[in-house]
Amino acid sequence: MHGQAEEWRREGRSVGCVPTMGYLHEGHLSLIRQARRETDRVAMSLFVNPTQFGPTEDYTTYPRDIEADCAKAEKAGVDAVFLPPVEEMYPPGYSTCVEVTGLSDLWEGTSRPGHFRGVATVVTKLFQIMKPHRAYFGQKDYQQALVIHRMAEDLDMDLTVVVMPTVREADGLAMSSRNAYLSPEEREAAQILPRTLRRAGELIQAGERDARALHDALVAFIRSEPRATVDYVAVCHPETLTPLTHLTDQALIALAVRIGKTRLIDNNLLTVGAPPVDSHNRPVPPAIP
Ligand code: AMP
Repeated sequence: MHGQAEEWRREGRSVGCVPTMGYLHEGHLSLIRQARRETDRVAMSLFVNPTQFGPTEDYTTYPRDIEADCAKAEKAGVDAVFLPPVEEMYPPGYSTCVEVTGLSDLWEGTSRPGHFRGVATVVTKLFQIMKPHRAYFGQKDYQQALVIHRMAEDLDMDLTVVVMPTVREADGLAMSSRNAYLSPEEREAAQILPRTLRRAGELIQAGERDARALHDALVAFIRSEPRATVDYVAVCHPETLTPLTHLTDQALIALAVRIGKTRLIDNNLLTVGAPPVDSHNRPVPPAIP
């Protein structure tokens, strides 16, 4: 892969890279297609990275289908698939990691200690190997994209991080390889995630500006679905990810919810704008039943 990327660069071609853990869906393919539009050569990595999974997480059961993935990748316009064995990425004696402090400690980082260290380290290695001019990530993993963007800037990595919108199923559920774990009943219950994000938009539109009140309303809303357990609901600043107290300008709403044993995440970036007022210019309180 390294030799191929170097050859492309020597030929004067721009290189796009799409890191994935495989079990490809339209979300992944949207990144590939964007890379295809913006760069001369597209490399996709397919690597279920053990170091970003916690000891009790789903590393061993993570869905895998390499042949189907390669066929989909080729059809979407990938020029090379990088499929390294774990021992090649982390040979005996491997000792180095990359840690993006601060951003990695919140939300997903709190729920999954060490997760972003694993992500930042493997993505650094993938960048070294695939030598991209542009690297493509999905907004579905908003915090991950922010961590990688920070890392690329801090470590003077000579590439552009591109973040593409979340691709959703017809009913709004964000596409995810982990959706494959859901039973039909759980798949139905999983609609609570996009519904909660819609609810957040409605509450803000109706005038809610108190971040705590919004958070509590969203938690209660998720709890109305018996199969759902809230991991976190973040009402936070879109760049620093620190919790907001009062909503102005823009707010990131990010959720982690367990449906049965499956942990799903989703998020939406909302523009807050001015609160609604009545004919006497008095603020109208939110009135969503
Ligand atoms: P994964 O294979 O889950 O590690 O995801 C690989 C890349 O695809 C990451 O940059 C994800 O953010 C992105 N991705 C995953 N799901 C979606 C989606 N539904 N829409 C857009 N991008 C996605």
